Amino acid sequence: MYILLMGPPGAGKGTQAEKLIEDYKLLHISTGDMFRAAVKAGTEMGKKAKTYMDAGGLVPDEVTIGVVREGLSKPECADGFMLDGFPRTLEQAVALDKIMADMGKKLDVVLNINVPDSELIDRVVGRRVCKECGATYHIKFNPSKVADKCDKCGGMLYQRNDDKEETAKNRLDAYHNQTEPLFDYYRKVGIYKEVNGLQHIDKVYGDVKKALGKF
Ligand code: ADP
Ligand code: ADP
Ligand code: ZN
Repeated sequence: MYILLMGPPGAGKGTQAEKLIEDYKLLHISTGDMFRAAVKAGTEMGKKAKTYMDAGGLVPDEVTIGVVREGLSKPECADGFMLDGFPRTLEQAVALDKIMADMGKKLDVVLNINVPDSELIDRVVGRRVCKECGATYHIKFNPSKVADKCDKCGGMLYQRNDDKEETAKNRLDAYHNQTEPLFDYYRKVGIYKEVNGLQHIDKVYGDVKKALGKF
């Protein structure tokens, strides 16, 4: 199964991906996670990506496409994967089709988690992430049992560098301008589906599973 998770920053892609991984043992490929790992490791690519991430803009296509091409070339990707946060531009979508065609594969379904802008800034600003395992929480909507501590592994929770109100607004603009045109791209090939992300996390997950049902 080859799935693509789409949705604006804060829609719940990472949260739903965590659940899908647990239930279906899907391989999760998140370009945001890959970039954050590169920033942490201090690689050249990480340094380059950081300037764009901190401003809430998109990392240039040639960098991003290179990272994904390398990621998808790993043997464990041959049996399926779930992409989260990629593609975000038309150029990336075209490049992904090409990479997958070279692998003799194609996308099964594109799932867009739909959430109105008015809700997203609160979600992003209240987001906390585990330093150790990457699990995602929200100070109000999905708090950990013990403040600042991960339920799953006991790791410390932190706020992402780009989860500030100003940066979040820029990311939302980038989404509307550069990523939303992809909906039509995938509608045309008949693999585009939408779920309502403005519901309780478990309810969203129920709809996600329904949408992925036949896969
Ligand atoms: P994305 O990966 O799309 O940016 P996340 O999964 O990290 O989004 O979710 C953003 C924030 O919103 C997190 O703090 C998360 O706990 C919270 N969240 C996710 N889904 C919901 C939901 N359905 N209702 C309320 N808050 C949610
Ligand atoms: P969110 O979970 O809030 O949607 P991500 O973790 O997916 O955010 O991405 C964080 C940042 O990493 C983005 O704001 C952008 O700077 C960069 N990034 C991630 N994926 C891509 C991509 N496909 N193309 C360009 N930049 C990306
Ligand atoms: Zn953890």
